[in-house]
Amino acid sequence: MKRITLGDKSFVPFIGYDRIDAAISQVAGQINADFRGCRDIPVLVCILNGAILFCGELMKRLDFNCQLISTKLTSYSGTQSTGNVRTDLPLTADITGRRVIVVEDIVDTGHTIVALKNMLTRAGASDVRIFTLLLKPEVYRQPVRLDYVGMEIPNRFIVGFGLDYDELGRNLPDIYVIDNNPPKPMKYYILFGPPGAGKGTQAAAMVEKYKLCHISTGELLRHEIAEGTPLGKQAKALIDDGQLVPDEVVEQMIESRFDSITGVEGFLLDGFPRTLAQAEALDGMLRRRGESLTGVVSIMIPDNLIYERIRHRAAIEGRADDASDATIAHRISTYHEKTEPLVAYYRQAGKYHEIDGSGAIDDVRDSIFALLDQHA
Ligand code: AMP
Repeated sequence: MKRITLGDKSFVPFIGYDRIDAAISQVAGQINADFRGCRDIPVLVCILNGAILFCGELMKRLDFNCQLISTKLTSYSGTQSTGNVRTDLPLTADITGRRVIVVEDIVDTGHTIVALKNMLTRAGASDVRIFTLLLKPEVYRQPVRLDYVGMEIPNRFIVGFGLDYDELGRNLPDIYVIDNNPPKPMKYYILFGPPGAGKGTQAAAMVEKYKLCHISTGELLRHEIAEGTPLGKQAKALIDDGQLVPDEVVEQMIESRFDSITGVEGFLLDGFPRTLAQAEALDGMLRRRGESLTGVVSIMIPDNLIYERIRHRAAIEGRADDASDATIAHRISTYHEKTEPLVAYYRQAGKYHEIDGSGAIDDVRDSIFALLDQHA
């Protein structure tokens, strides 16, 4: 069981299904002992919607004849008890002179139970017993006796096993508790732009200011080549020729960094994704982690400036794939063909932000910082 998010709230595991199951069996045993062999047919009143899963589990364990009806009372809005109880669904059977067992998921302040017991008595029930799966004893201050209680829990807001947060979470088989101090979600930025746009330079500034881990697939691959690893050997010919390495290779490199790097506030992806398939793979990775992409920072420069910048870099860094105009041209055409379609992909997702990269380094950096401050 992992942390989950429902609407705007975060929840952590609290009571596993095994414990719920055992509690239901235990209290079902008590009810059976009290009602086994009875001549009348008691009426079980399932309190919708919260008790629906519980009532189903309970009924499977009862070994006396009983009738099932449902009613719906609401005393909640969001996570706060309002104290107002509303009947949304009137009783669907005549209970005059009948023994009634109320099946409730949770009792906290007890407003619902008091209102319900009064209503059932007024409707002619000869006896009303209350069965709740969960009880918050710290807040229950009502004179009404609770005959069967599955489990006592502290006064915290929970969801799952029929209980909801604004109608979400009822389907969870386990019970979760609200986490009031959830960890800040990780940031995931993509640094996007053609070769030579200045991504490496700007990445260094972004990483420092926003406490990000910089993952440059190009640098990782060059490291593999320098180390002479099998992956490096496989990638070298492709890279030297200005071609892309296979998607799976870079995807694996990225995922293993997401798994292993801690102590940062986010990741800055540089050189990844470079194809639509890689973008979709990234979406999948983030989804599996319960995270999402924060935004794409795209540094754009015209093609003529790309040549100028790369020739300048070749003189300083001596990268093999910067050495000839033919290789540069190949990389630019690969970029236009395979990587540029990502602009539309991320624009459609509302995550794409473009920065003019043709100005001075400091000006470009300031524009990026302004953007990130706004979209952090
Ligand atoms: P870069 O340093 O980002 O310009 O990357 C240098 C070279 O590494 C590229 O021209 C590709 O051959 C390879 N490479 C880097 N990132 C990727 C990626 N995401 N997908 C495929 N190949 C990549």
